[in-house]
Amino acid sequence: MRILVTGGAGYIGSVITEELVARGHDVAVFDNLAKGHRDAVVEGAAFLQGDVLDGEALRGAFRTYGVEAVVHMAADSLVGESVGNPGKYYRSNVVGGLTLLDAMRDAGVGRIVFSSTAAVYGEPNKQPIEEDDPLAPTNPYGETKLAFERALAWYERAHGLSHVSLRYFNAAGATDRCGERHDPETHLVPLVLRAALGEAGEVVIFGDDYPTKDGTCVRDYIHVRDLAHAHVLAIEAIGAGRAKSRVYNLGCGGRGYTVREVIDAARDVTGRPIPARVGPRRAGDPAVLVASSTRIERELGFRPRHQDLAEIIGSAFDWMLARRRRGGARPAA
Ligand code: UDP
Repeated sequence: MRILVTGGAGYIGSVITEELVARGHDVAVFDNLAKGHRDAVVEGAAFLQGDVLDGEALRGAFRTYGVEAVVHMAADSLVGESVGNPGKYYRSNVVGGLTLLDAMRDAGVGRIVFSSTAAVYGEPNKQPIEEDDPLAPTNPYGETKLAFERALAWYERAHGLSHVSLRYFNAAGATDRCGERHDPETHLVPLVLRAALGEAGEVVIFGDDYPTKDGTCVRDYIHVRDLAHAHVLAIEAIGAGRAKSRVYNLGCGGRGYTVREVIDAARDVTGRPIPARVGPRRAGDPAVLVASSTRIERELGFRPRHQDLAEIIGSAFDWMLARRRRGGARPAA
């Protein structure tokens, strides 16, 4: 299939692009490089620098590449930032998303896989979370992702769009080529590994008074490779007309780890001390977020292949070390 990946130069998008190319698809990456990296785009994929707010550029990309389906990753995705700057999130995630959908409609591109988020559930009242559980986002990030999910359903009704939304839980890990490099970095696994390398100070644990086994938050960490594989399954299923328009949770099969467990696993994997101290809670953090992945397993045959936390953390660490050997790492802030 000829597939356009918006945001395909970012952390998760670059792994999805890698996986799609390996499966023999023709991939074009469309990314404004605000947060992505040109060198993260695998050889074999075309690259076009552009913004999803630019409908003309999108229509041009659809024509040039004869696009048949879209994987839509381009977004702003930091919860804290979204609370302080909601307009930015409405613009990128809603206005940008609608610009993309209109360009798709104009070009007759009728299939999309959308990168959504567990943040659409807000503070869930039960675990593991199922797709039909209440949707009550507690921040503009989750709200804008949900708004786009809902737009997809209306575009389906009006224009026959086929769509799959994948609600990600916590992506982590790396492939040989692609790993996490945000600036500033806010995610737990890369911060813990930077601390292990002595590049960041101590890890601050955001609260240890949650109702969990050790008082720290529980999250469902999924290897970015498994996450990418789910996109391949989704796009191939809608491409072949096998999938109905659908929403799926995307986690690691029903179990989660506390922040302390992640830090301990990283100490084991790296063999290095990782200094950590407890700080205040971070605003907007639910105590536990664990996915039920039953639906995607049943309907798309998804099975996570890299569930072991040590493997997930180890792959991220290997990638960081290799990048530093090549001289590509920037010192941590
Ligand atoms: N976390 C932490 N210290 C940090 C970064 C994150 O304790 O410096 C916690 C955070 O509160 C959450 C978990 O680690 O419970 C995962 O956070 P991350 O930002 O990686 O992903 P999120 O769950 O926000 O998508």
